[in-house]
Amino acid sequence: MSAGSYYDVLGVARDAGEQEIKKAYRNLARKYHPDVCKEPDAEEKFKDINEAYSVLSDPEKRAQYDNIGHEAFKNASKGSYTGGGGYGGGFQADFSGFGDIFDTFFGGGGGPRGPRPGADLLYRLSISLKDAVFGTDREIEVMHTESCPECDGSGSKNKKFRVCPKCGGSGQIRQVSQSLFGQFVRMSACPDCGGRGKIPEEPCKRCKGSGHARVKRKVSVRIPPGAYSGLRLRMEGYGEAGDYGAPVGDLYVEIIVEESQDFVRNGENLETTVKVTPAMAAVGSKVEVKTIDGRTVELKIPAGIQHGTALRIPGEGVRHRGRPGDLLVRVKIVVPKSLSDEEKELYQKLLEIENKKGPEKKGFFKDFVDKMRGEPEK
Ligand SMILES: [Zn+2]
Ligand SMILES: [Zn+2]
Repeated sequence: MSAGSYYDVLGVARDAGEQEIKKAYRNLARKYHPDVCKEPDAEEKFKDINEAYSVLSDPEKRAQYDNIGHEAFKNASKGSYTGGGGYGGGFQADFSGFGDIFDTFFGGGGGPRGPRPGADLLYRLSISLKDAVFGTDREIEVMHTESCPECDGSGSKNKKFRVCPKCGGSGQIRQVSQSLFGQFVRMSACPDCGGRGKIPEEPCKRCKGSGHARVKRKVSVRIPPGAYSGLRLRMEGYGEAGDYGAPVGDLYVEIIVEESQDFVRNGENLETTVKVTPAMAAVGSKVEVKTIDGRTVELKIPAGIQHGTALRIPGEGVRHRGRPGDLLVRVKIVVPKSLSDEEKELYQKLLEIENKKGPEKKGFFKDFVDKMRGEPEK
């Protein structure tokens, strides 16, 4: 496991230049090269150093890394992003493996490489705020690689194999390569048989001997109540198939909660607004408030309520384990833009009464109009 960010691993500042990164890498790689360094965790450190350098030396990867952060980048680079979920038409990025440097030193340095496990997949799923509040079940379709059903993933039509002529059955080939440190001889997995030492007698026609098939698969996803944007649900074994006999990758479903027109989520609570007239606010009233699931509940507006006050309806917020959140109803006092003759008369009368009280004891209505002047209605 790496100690921290790739910048920490190489011991450089986040704004370090290309040359500086290269220099730091060379020094550290020399120091921790497993052939040279006898510290017990040298190989691990050397791997971290190479991993860090392979990212920071590539401007594109470095930009991605800076953008999404260490953890997300590490997770993403384990698999491949496949877009979907109707969010912005899909998102695809290539975080595929750590290139050349790794290969040069570690193509199979610690013995023959075993069968590779399948990659993880990421699927982005947009849901409404209501579905996030209550939880929901969704069925999504994911393109992924499965074991070929024709040959059970073996790649062989009759499931019979013969010794691989390229490696003579060892599954490994010897390669000589040049590196910063001179000549290296390394053993790596045979490209023809993938390290298995045998190849199909007759390759399966459907998968051409790969043992894999691309299929569209329906996956049922249970989204828990209280789901939030960025929540990742792990669907074990729904990712890509690996090499024959290796574990299958996982599917991660990342939740994106769409904005609602009427409700704003604030932790476990939901917020909405209700409009009342100055008269309703002054003498008190009752209003009907729509809840997130479309029901109507009655809310008492107490006499003398001030603009912007929030009233609480318990239990109508996010249904999260245990105690659900509340619905906060913010009262918005809206002055009528046009008045009937009768209303105008009454407001005039009200104004006269307020004026009689004198400037210090001006009443609710005048006070309110003053307040609203500094806060124009949208
Ligand atoms: Zn071979
Ligand atoms: Zn097949």
